[in-house]
Amino acid sequence: LFSQVGFIGLGNMGGPMANNLVKKNFKVTVFDTDAKKRTALVANGAHESNSLKEVCENAECIVTMLPANQHVLDAYTTSDGILKSVPRGCTLIDCSTIDYQIPKKLAALAKDMEVNFIEAPVSGGIMAAREGRLSFMVGGEGEIVEKARPILEAMGAKFVHCGGHGSGQAAKMCNNLLLAISMAGVSEAMNLGIKLGLDAKKLAAVINTSSGECWSSRVYNPVPGVIDGVPSSKNYEGGFSVTLMVKDLGLAENAASDKGVKLPLGDQVTSLYRHLHENGFSGKDFSVIYKYLESLAGK
Ligand code: NAD
Repeated sequence: LFSQVGFIGLGNMGGPMANNLVKKNFKVTVFDTDAKKRTALVANGAHESNSLKEVCENAECIVTMLPANQHVLDAYTTSDGILKSVPRGCTLIDCSTIDYQIPKKLAALAKDMEVNFIEAPVSGGIMAAREGRLSFMVGGEGEIVEKARPILEAMGAKFVHCGGHGSGQAAKMCNNLLLAISMAGVSEAMNLGIKLGLDAKKLAAVINTSSGECWSSRVYNPVPGVIDGVPSSKNYEGGFSVTLMVKDLGLAENAASDKGVKLPLGDQVTSLYRHLHENGFSGKDFSVIYKYLESLAGK
């Protein structure tokens, strides 16, 4: 079992994930380029480091939870980055959502440095991250995946080993394509129902016990006040930003175009989310698409 874990990227997801490792008694050293994020974790019992190089020293396992492709590539491959700084035999787990072709490249570089790399992107949102109930979609060699299992189980409840490097990211990308479509669909249906005079909570109760039921309605309803504590009830703050959803839809669009697969619904939600991104909603939670659809009424 790993005792020395380094955690890099302490944002909306990484912060609560690192906290759960601390709570489960792993010795966790944290790093984020934003010093305020480190302070919050240190207050809960993590050790602070001031650089990528420092968080890697003596680590038996490193978990990364960074925004997008370039952040991950930089953190792993710069001259004082993870691959150059960790001890031999270290296990590296990237939980960020990135292009499905990057894990193969990182795994090959890791092998050259005699360290192990797997990808383990997550689903479940910030509530599941806080409560240690995330779902992991894991890609990499079975032996390393098994070695990483105690770390993943300390942060999550579900775990699917999808196959070799890249398969976890491919699965995550498909899931988020569907999530964008389902969130837009729930928002459109809720908007129509409310405009017809239905009570939002009652309409949600109907959907959640009927064939329209889905995560976007039941767990993360986009209409303010339907569910306490979710981003829609907190002015769409925190959660999963429109910027990150646009990034994930871009990953799916690129992969589909590589393989000659058409995404007619994906194209529609991508253009809706890009519109939100360019019109002042980039930092809001992605369920803010409800507000946009609501604002179209009466035009
Ligand atoms: P976030 O923007 O809240 O956090 C990212 C953190 O990484 C920030 O604190 C930032 O300062 C830090 N960072 C950036 N570059 C760094 C570097 N080089 N070294 C150290 N720290 C660095 O993002 P998030 O919402 O936590 O998402 C992280 C990843 O998880 C993304 O790939 C996202 O797509 C994925 N994801 C998010 C959610 C969600 O609900 N928010 C759910 C599933 C997956």
